[in-house]
Amino acid sequence: MEQAEIGLIGLGVMGANLALNIAEKGNRIAVFNRTPEVTRAFYEAAGALQDRIIPCETLEEFVAAIRPPRPIIIMIKAGDPVDQQMALLRPILSDNDIIIDAGNANFRDTMRRFDGLKDSGLTFIGMGVSGGEEGARNGPSIMVGGTPESYARVEKVLTSIAAVYDGAPCCAWLGTDGAGHFVKTIHNGIEYADMQMIAEIYGILRDGLNMSASEIANVFGEWNRGRLNSYLIEITEIVLNAADPITGKPIVDMILDQAGQKGTGKWSVIESQQMGVPATAIEAAVAARSISSMKAEREAAEGILGLPKVPEFVVEDRAAFIKDLENALLAAKVGAYAQGFAVMAQASREFNWSLPMPVIAKIWRAGCIIRSQFLDEITTAFTEAPEAANLIVTPAFADIVKDTDAALRRVVSAAVLHGLPVPALASALGYFDSYRRARGTANVIQGQRDFFGAHGFDRVDGADAHHGPWGSGLGHKS
Ligand code: NDP
Repeated sequence: MEQAEIGLIGLGVMGANLALNIAEKGNRIAVFNRTPEVTRAFYEAAGALQDRIIPCETLEEFVAAIRPPRPIIIMIKAGDPVDQQMALLRPILSDNDIIIDAGNANFRDTMRRFDGLKDSGLTFIGMGVSGGEEGARNGPSIMVGGTPESYARVEKVLTSIAAVYDGAPCCAWLGTDGAGHFVKTIHNGIEYADMQMIAEIYGILRDGLNMSASEIANVFGEWNRGRLNSYLIEITEIVLNAADPITGKPIVDMILDQAGQKGTGKWSVIESQQMGVPATAIEAAVAARSISSMKAEREAAEGILGLPKVPEFVVEDRAAFIKDLENALLAAKVGAYAQGFAVMAQASREFNWSLPMPVIAKIWRAGCIIRSQFLDEITTAFTEAPEAANLIVTPAFADIVKDTDAALRRVVSAAVLHGLPVPALASALGYFDSYRRARGTANVIQGQRDFFGAHGFDRVDGADAHHGPWGSGLGHKS
């Protein structure tokens, strides 16, 4: 039987769909899953694509079914399972074979695995894949990290399965070792912020304006035809419009307000803190998921503290307020993306990746969860101003901030006054207000630090008195 040009291990939700996508694009693929029944069921369900699929029940059979040098995609549970799978594979692979980890790996694990294979004759690619089940089947966004040479060998098949935007595949090589998984991590961090901000706006419409799920759905539907047009706004409308088959009520009113998380949001925050790059909107979104999961504690706290005693939520011009909400969401979204791209810019410097910002925005325009026309604007902004320190100081985005930040301010003020939680929206506003203010307030912090710790400070006039006139007896080192 003719050998496959590529192999895939792990026929779970993502792997099975990716394998069908690969086969559908005309590639012969060998597949293997730890539990052989899963492989059999996958093959039986593959229908007309069976001709291009070689199902294998042992790893030896799987490796023999792929033409060397072999590209092998591993799409299994992230973490230790990937190391275990690699340990089983390594002894039976040959020189120049490529192991491609397509799961949601921590980029530090990817760097370790890349280094571990360096002198082995094998190569490692860490590949971020976004788009969920549907993306994997019909075209995901693919973020690749590894050597340019190894990417060149798999570029054809990867670009053939990726989503397409304006004729361009949403797949690119972004840098060496962990670059692809780092970018995927930040993608997910931004996704957390995007989702949280939508949820906060939903909260204002539900608890401030007392609107029903279907009325709110109509608002999101309207916004999806404007500048907020995006996959997440689109699915929010669908979620809000869906009825519960059991009660007939809106399903969203039957879903418990406890959000799960798997780790990539948290990793974005850890890495941004590690590098000293503020990603406050993403942090707020990750923290909001954690608070959401503390349902019993929240119920107990409401019992003890009650809801805040606030004035009734009165809006004089409802249509104007809803327009404000739309602009506020746009402004806050700009803040979250600006933070995510700033984190990537710093990581690029620290890890010598030369991450191409316009290319990253480009391959997120379709296939992935944060896909939107807004990313097209980011591509243009970074192409026109490649040296910009931050997205919000590029000419196009500075204009968006100037046009919409007053709305964000009004919305955050209204929410705060009425006790409605908007941590991510407020963080984005705080970020703008801090970032655009040339004279901040850290002079007081420096004074305090010098007072208790003799840390010294720089002076505004450049003169070199580096300590304050506190006197030696006053300071307490800590
Ligand atoms: P599933 O839970 O559907 O499938 C998990 C797969 O991992 C199964 O094939 C399972 O094999 C295999 N597996 C688990 N442990 C081991 C092990 N120790 N050795 C070998 N194989 C093992 O997961 P998904 O398909 O959803 O996710 C796969 C990867 O893709 C993860 O890294 C995930 O984070 C990432 N991802 C998921 C997305 C999603 O929307 N679901 C989106 C983007 C990335 P078995 O059948 O034998 O249990």
